[in-house]
Amino acid sequence: LESRILDAEKWSVLTSLAAGIAHEIRNPLTTARGFLQLFLERLCDETDRRFLRLTIDELDRIQRLVTDFMSLAKPGQSVFGLVDLAAALKEVAEFISPQAALSNVTLETELEVNDAWVWGDANQLKQVVLNLLQNAFQACKPKDTVRLRLHVQAGLVTVEVADTGCGMTPEQMARLFQPYYTTKTTGTGLGLTVTKQIMERHGGDVRISSRPGEGTLVTLELHQAVQSLPNAPI
Ligand code: ADP
Ligand code: MG
Repeated sequence: LESRILDAEKWSVLTSLAAGIAHEIRNPLTTARGFLQLFLERLCDETDRRFLRLTIDELDRIQRLVTDFMSLAKPGQSVFGLVDLAAALKEVAEFISPQAALSNVTLETELEVNDAWVWGDANQLKQVVLNLLQNAFQACKPKDTVRLRLHVQAGLVTVEVADTGCGMTPEQMARLFQPYYTTKTTGTGLGLTVTKQIMERHGGDVRISSRPGEGTLVTLELHQAVQSLPNAPI
């Protein structure tokens, strides 16, 4: 037991160090990217321009890795409260809708629910659904559909993100939640790791079912929060 406590301490020192370093990496990265972008506009030679664009893409990749890593390594900043999940999901859907239009994918929402109250951190829950919607869009081809659905039944609040995209093989499914597992050239492989971590922090559950060539369904389950009356007698 003692060694496990030591391990936990070491781990927390390591992750907070890492989060600090990640933070320090971001600023110089942003500056460097800004100047490279400036040079890109001045360069005339097409080969030079291509190399510079590749350089900027690589910096963007570091930026994404650092951002995703930070949300993994920097827990303990949760602000828990009563969250109206319907309102939160409407914001996320609105935020992502330009991406849907751009990739010619239809986004269908069913969010008209009055009692989808949960106890949690609104930003983290929005992050979860954003991660899932992004994965869904990235799995789709033009004319596919992504559906975001919310419903409440028997004290459980359920969010479904379904897509008619490429789907996954059982081998892929087995590795989904592994940190850094990605099949995308620009992926970080941290989206679902973060998602799972946040859901665990909320005492919730995430389930995924998928068929190659047919699509994927991700189901989130959270306990419905009971709204207590203010100043109610104890
Ligand atoms: P990333 O999106 O950066 O690759 P994630 O952790 O979000 O990392 O996802 C890990 C992998 O799981 C993806 O690279 C992809 O192969 C697979 N995946 C996740 N969601 C879907 C989906 N809706 N449809 C098909 N594959 C998916
Ligand atoms: Mg992802």
